[in-house]
Amino acid sequence: MEGLSWNAAAMATGSFKSLVRAPPQLSMAVSDYSAVTWSRSGGSHSIRAAIAAEKMPRAPLLGWNLPDVWRPRPNLPPCPALPERNLAVEPIAAVIDGKAIAQEIRGEIAGEVSRMRDAVGKVPGLAVVLVGARKDSETYVRSKKKACEEVGIKSLGIDLPEESTEDEVLRAVMMFNDDPSVHGVLVQLPLPQHICEEKILNAVSIDKDVDGFHPLNIGRLAMQGREPLFVPCTPKGCIELLIRSGIDMMGKRAVVIGRSNIVGAPAAMLLQRHNATVTIVHSYTKNAEDITREADIVISAVGVANLVRGDWLKPGAVVIDVGINPVEDPNSKRGYRLVGDVCYEEASRIVSAITPVPGGVGPMTIAMLLSNTLESAKRAYGLT
Ligand code: NAP
Repeated sequence: MEGLSWNAAAMATGSFKSLVRAPPQLSMAVSDYSAVTWSRSGGSHSIRAAIAAEKMPRAPLLGWNLPDVWRPRPNLPPCPALPERNLAVEPIAAVIDGKAIAQEIRGEIAGEVSRMRDAVGKVPGLAVVLVGARKDSETYVRSKKKACEEVGIKSLGIDLPEESTEDEVLRAVMMFNDDPSVHGVLVQLPLPQHICEEKILNAVSIDKDVDGFHPLNIGRLAMQGREPLFVPCTPKGCIELLIRSGIDMMGKRAVVIGRSNIVGAPAAMLLQRHNATVTIVHSYTKNAEDITREADIVISAVGVANLVRGDWLKPGAVVIDVGINPVEDPNSKRGYRLVGDVCYEEASRIVSAITPVPGGVGPMTIAMLLSNTLESAKRAYGLT
């Protein structure tokens, strides 16, 4: 009951946002975890009971300050070792080779960039704003720059110190917004905590928003009959993998596991645009296994190793695994290796096609960033 009061009190006073991503010790102070879940999905009943019992101010029926509860991720057991596969009787899934498909796309982009240089004497330009010195962010930015150079896209960047003010970051974004040789501006996330991510992303000019995170681009993606200028790179990469692997989405049942702004939600919108019938599974979904087992196409973007087991999947389904999860591996030099959300060993004995991790969706994300930058430059120079 302590959990229910805590949660309902936060909801009633509209202070949920302040609890978002609370440190684990704060979340774990909620003793009855099921009560927390119930009060969110069961909604008004539990809140009304708590308000009546504790004479708390009444919450609005539906406000913008919707609850957003931090939830610890479970540590799932590793997939068990399976017996040798009997290839005579067990089918083996086709591997959707994201690395090869991304390479093919980069080749096409390089060809288009050279055509642009011949036609108008210009090349596309991509600018990256990096704030702080996170090693992972620096690595991502370096690989984006290298990928640009390989296809002939001009790459620019600004590295700002960790303690930069919001105004300084905004000025960097504005500078690239105003530069006609720049066709894509991206801000490497995450930003340091003192900087408002939303404010910075909203400042990126919509016609240079190659990450596709601007609310106008996402809004247009969600609406029928509207065209976004850019589609977020990772979900766009997932759909491109399906198309280039000859997998038809029309009329198929699709399940997207995860509903984040950058992957799950736009992936579901894109599948719907391709006329699939889409269900979104998230951390509050009941019977996620049963729902997923109905799907002809599964896109998983959660960030939990081995969440999706073989018995979650329908025989013959197609699986796109977006998850990138480090798991301990004493045999690896780094002490860990990367796996997806889907237990590959089990899944590959059941489904008809699956992306590996690494080498599946990852390489497609950068290829789609290059493709968005090229599209933007083509629009700017009136090329088709
Ligand atoms: P995120 O913002 O943390 O979102 C994770 C989503 O998974 C949330 O919607 C969450 O539901 C849902 N979820 C969590 N636990 C669940 C469970 N047990 N059952 C069902 N759903 C659950 O993560 P993200 O940014 O979308 O990234 C997801 C994964 O993709 C990560 O591993 C990330 O590293 C990887 N990724 C890869 C690429 C690439 O290029 N390959 C690009 C981006 C991300 P709630 O909304 O209810 O919390």
